[in-house]
Amino acid sequence: VKKPEHRPKAHRKAWRFPAGEASNCTHCGMCIFACPVRALDFGPGRLPQLVRAEACNLCGVCARVCPGGEIDFAQTGRSLGLANEYDPWLGPVRDAFLAHDTEPGGPRRSASGGAVTAVLGYALRAGLIDAAVVTAPDPADPLLFRARLARSPEELDQGRQSKYQTIPLALALSEAADNERIGFAGNGCQVAALRKLQETIPAYRTRVPLVLGIFCSTGNLSLRATEFMVRKGCGLAPRRVKQVEYRHGPYPGAFMVACDDQSIRVIAKDAYKWLYTLYTTERCMRCIDLSCELADISFGDPFELCNRPEGQSVAIVRSSLGQEVLAAAVLDGGLAVEPVAPERVVAAQGMQFYISRVVIPGLNARRGMTAFHAPRLPEGFRGTWKSRIKATGLFTVFRFRRLLRWVFDVLPFRAFAMVSRLTGRG
Ligand SMILES: Cc1cc2nc3c(=O)[nH]c(=O)nc-3n(C[C@H](O)[C@H](O)[C@H](O)COP(=O)(O)OP(=O)(O)OC[C@H]3O[C@@H](n4cnc5c(N)ncnc54)[C@H](O)[C@@H]3O)c2cc1C
Repeated sequence: VKKPEHRPKAHRKAWRFPAGEASNCTHCGMCIFACPVRALDFGPGRLPQLVRAEACNLCGVCARVCPGGEIDFAQTGRSLGLANEYDPWLGPVRDAFLAHDTEPGGPRRSASGGAVTAVLGYALRAGLIDAAVVTAPDPADPLLFRARLARSPEELDQGRQSKYQTIPLALALSEAADNERIGFAGNGCQVAALRKLQETIPAYRTRVPLVLGIFCSTGNLSLRATEFMVRKGCGLAPRRVKQVEYRHGPYPGAFMVACDDQSIRVIAKDAYKWLYTLYTTERCMRCIDLSCELADISFGDPFELCNRPEGQSVAIVRSSLGQEVLAAAVLDGGLAVEPVAPERVVAAQGMQFYISRVVIPGLNARRGMTAFHAPRLPEGFRGTWKSRIKATGLFTVFRFRRLLRWVFDVLPFRAFAMVSRLTGRG
């Protein structure tokens, strides 16, 4: 038998960073998970790097599954058999609802209405999936969250709430046995990575039969955002933290820290809106996929559409599977829904949609970045003057984010909270 040729040095030289450049990386971990020879791992800055060059055979799988690479959303949606109707703001739409978990206290423990957890819970009970990829506190560090597979209602419960930090969801897929069917819930870049995995390795179409999406607009923050909230907002040394929540209590929830002396500190959500601008990643500022349009069903915050004090989620149903699962979850009693017009969902977060569908595609084109194909908007669309001013403000703040982080580190936290309340988005 001829021994394979091992040329680690040459491979290290020839291997290309999957996302092309580091600032395109979403830190989703899909390249690390998909590498057939386990040659990659996270390195400094949570960026993938070649750790076993001798194993790498330059197969290119890492680049093919990377959501930093080329994505034509409309085309991919069609090949996945999502809705034929393509809304320029929301992507493929079959139905739109306001939805909430009917479990007592479920929405209160969740980000908005607990609909994501309710649908995953139904899929587990009904045997559609054997486990679900969710986020959970990292046992080694109370400030950190990680991805894990949930196989029981208790484990699913840990996934509740939005964690405003980048979490490599794909790594949880390696916990699954070969014969297990997995439900996946993640935001746009993570779902895009999963869809690319399914395209590259078709066995994952049956292994991950249910894909739920989570709206996300520049919300994947570096860990420094959480550290700032703990240190500056709560006046605590990180070592005193026992638990962190970003959406504690009834909708819209608050940032909450449980301390080692059993006390808790809480900061209202509107007082930390500026975190999104100061600590978001560069890749988020290039993302056009606010509503996670490659999922079977996508869930978001309803903003002013919410008509239950405990909370509700927006649910955009995109595939026939999504329609079946949502209807079955309602019949099963775990989920309650009421129809909502898709235009109202877009209007409720007009500024975020304006940024992701108008401003960012324009900036990407100017940078010569053609990787994310933006849909065509109605001819002559310009957005409201308020959206235009806010978007200009957002990008100006982002440009000077390092300086502003330093300024807010020096000033008392109430200055940051006041600016957040006056000018923050969402
Ligand atoms: C980083 C981020 C930014 C967001 N930005 C927006 C926005 O701009 N507009 C909007 O309408 N909605 C946004 N959302 C979605 C919103 O906050 C809720 O997640 C959504 O309404 C579903 O709420 P729920 O109560 O139904 O979910 P729950 O039942 O509480 O379940 C939450 C689900 O989200 C998953 N999750 C939590 N944090 C992360 C994470 N960091 N990465 C991947 N998965 C995660 C959990 O594992 C779980 O499956 C964002 C969410 C996140 C995580």
